[in-house]
Amino acid sequence: MSTKEQTYIMVKPDGVQRGLVGDIIARFEKRGFKLVALKLVQATTEHLEKHYADLKGKPFFPGLIKYMASGPVVAMVWEGLDAVKTGRVMLGATNPLASAPGTIRGDYALAVGRNICHGSDAVESAQKEIALWFPEGLVQYTNTLEGWVFE
Ligand code: GDP
Ligand code: MG
Repeated sequence: MSTKEQTYIMVKPDGVQRGLVGDIIARFEKRGFKLVALKLVQATTEHLEKHYADLKGKPFFPGLIKYMASGPVVAMVWEGLDAVKTGRVMLGATNPLASAPGTIRGDYALAVGRNICHGSDAVESAQKEIALWFPEGLVQYTNTLEGWVFE
C-alpha cells in the first residue's frame, strides 16, 4: 500500500556548481511530487556532521564533510506517494557508475564522492533530516493539481 510521505532531497555543492538545480527540481515536479520546503544553504561542518552522523568513522567521512561544505547546497522537502523510496529510485545508486541511465546520478555523475544529490533512505531518517534542515517548519498550501496526480 502506497502512503503519502515526505522526503529530504538535497542538491550537493557539485550539483549547484554544475547548474543542475533546475533539472533536479524539474524531475520531482514533473513526477507529481509537491514542494513543501526549499532553500539555498551554506552548511557548516557541525551541521553536516550531524546530517551524516551514521557515517562517522568511515574512511571517506572527512572528505565527505569537506566536499559538502565546499559550497552551497539546495535543501528541499518533497511530498507524495512513497516519496522516500521513489526519491531514492530517481537519484540512482550511491555509486554513479552503478546508477541506471534515466536516474539523476546515472545521467550526470561518475564518482561516488561527487554524486550530485542526496535523498533520505528511510521514513525515519527523512523525519530526522527534515527537522535538522528545516527547524523553522515546512510550508502549508494546497496544490490545485492534486486531483490530477492522486486518485
Ligand atoms: P547515499 O545515501 O546514497 O547518499 O549513500 P550513503 O549514505 O552511504 O553515503 C553518503 C554519501 O557519502 C554518498 O552519497 C557519497 O557522496 C559519499 N560516499 C559513500 N560511500 C563513499 C565511498 O566509498 N567513497 C567516497 N569518496 N564517498 C562515499
Ligand atoms: Mg545515505
